[in-house]
Amino acid sequence: MRKIGITTTVPVEVIYAAGCIPVDINNIFITGEHPQQKVEAAEIAGYPRNVCGWIKGLYTTILEEKDIREVIAVTQGDCTNTHALMETLELQGVKTIPFAFPFDRDKDLLRLQIEKLMAYFEVDWEQVLIVKKRLDAIRKKVWEIDRLTWEENRVSGFDNHLFQVNCSDFKGEPESFDREISQFLERACHAPELKQDVRLGFIGVPPIISGLYHYLESIGARVVFNEIQRQFTMPFETDDLVEQYRLYTYPYHVLNRIEDIKREIKRRNLDGLIHYTQSFCFRQIEDLIFRQELDVPILTLEGDKPAQLDARSKMRIDAFVEMLRWNK
Ligand code: SF4
Repeated sequence: MRKIGITTTVPVEVIYAAGCIPVDINNIFITGEHPQQKVEAAEIAGYPRNVCGWIKGLYTTILEEKDIREVIAVTQGDCTNTHALMETLELQGVKTIPFAFPFDRDKDLLRLQIEKLMAYFEVDWEQVLIVKKRLDAIRKKVWEIDRLTWEENRVSGFDNHLFQVNCSDFKGEPESFDREISQFLERACHAPELKQDVRLGFIGVPPIISGLYHYLESIGARVVFNEIQRQFTMPFETDDLVEQYRLYTYPYHVLNRIEDIKREIKRRNLDGLIHYTQSFCFRQIEDLIFRQELDVPILTLEGDKPAQLDARSKMRIDAFVEMLRWNK
């Protein structure tokens, strides 16, 4: 079956309706073998040192995945580096399919973009909405994993991250992903309650570094809100596909994200936030907006390349968690 690379969440319903398989390149890059070497390979090919590690990893991963020759390029609403990434991929013979989230969340423009994608994949609304129904049923089960994380304290921050992040492409096989979720839910419903006393939110792009969630839990803190990952699950009840991708906060103005974060801070009773920023990412600038708009303590943590959480970050996390515990 034809595989379509994606570098961020897009209306995957369209891709599945066409009988194709979406592959989130971020996930195969970071969970694959030797992600650090993929970053280095892009630098050897000519990518500058001061460009985000995710972009370099995506470049090498796409070139290595020989059965992915088409990639959806989100030209608005994702990453400022996408244009150059796609241009360098095209130079290597990869076809790019443009898609844009209108910055002002204009419904007509978004519908036009989705319909352009549908025209490319030669599918109609009826086919797309059948897929939406199927994927929504899976999304609802992942919402339950999220609820078990923050309300019943039975799911770790990392499992919460993992299941939600995989909703970008449903691992390319919605049926088997659905079974995996059901099995996990069966265990999670009866799992003993987790006892960490400090409740954290994780905001910002998914981390390129590993070991963060486990480290937090080892010192008595737990992430009970993964902001962007949760957005990948489309946590809104709507039968309207255009509205679904309009409610999705990530591609639009940061103030929409802030509204969502504020609501979840209250609902999930969070003690503080970790704002993860990626070296050389334009989204680092948004840190100043979060600090101004959110009234809980925030620790800003920066990651550069795929690696284990370093000692300096651990020390900063220790001090932050201790301060939150003291304030409780
Ligand atoms: S972390 Fe920032 S710069 Fe890197 S791919 Fe994501 S949006 Fe782009």
